[in-house]
Amino acid sequence: MSSIDAHYTDDRPLQPAVLRGLRCKCPACGQAPMLEKFLKVRDTCPGCGEDLSHQRADDGPAYLTMLVTLKVVTPLMVSAMFAWDMHPALLFTIFSALLVALSLFLLPRFKGMIVAIQWSRRMHGFDERNDAGHRQTSDS
Ligand SMILES: [Zn+2]
Repeated sequence: MSSIDAHYTDDRPLQPAVLRGLRCKCPACGQAPMLEKFLKVRDTCPGCGEDLSHQRADDGPAYLTMLVTLKVVTPLMVSAMFAWDMHPALLFTIFSALLVALSLFLLPRFKGMIVAIQWSRRMHGFDERNDAGHRQTSDS
């Protein structure tokens, strides 16, 4: 392998990492759970020891969850409103429950996906190769 090949070889491919993240598994090994409790990312993977403390998912999972759930639930609610002559309170109750259930289902999966993308693309300190350089720039 030449030095150019070594430079462009991706040892953290994005697609498998994202699929592992969507299953809330460690993006490195895909075996151990990435999350403890509901949304707390473990500092290290219990399976392979990968350091996951560098993740900075912030509001990304909540934003994606709102984007998807509202894009799914709103057309369904409008369709149901015109298709069936339901009482508005019943309609509100049904679709509120659907919205909450879908949000609780998607939120940890999107968090896993965002952490996996950050790990795969070596963002926010996930790049141990530049760890010394990162510390130098962050101190200044
Ligand atoms: Zn792992």
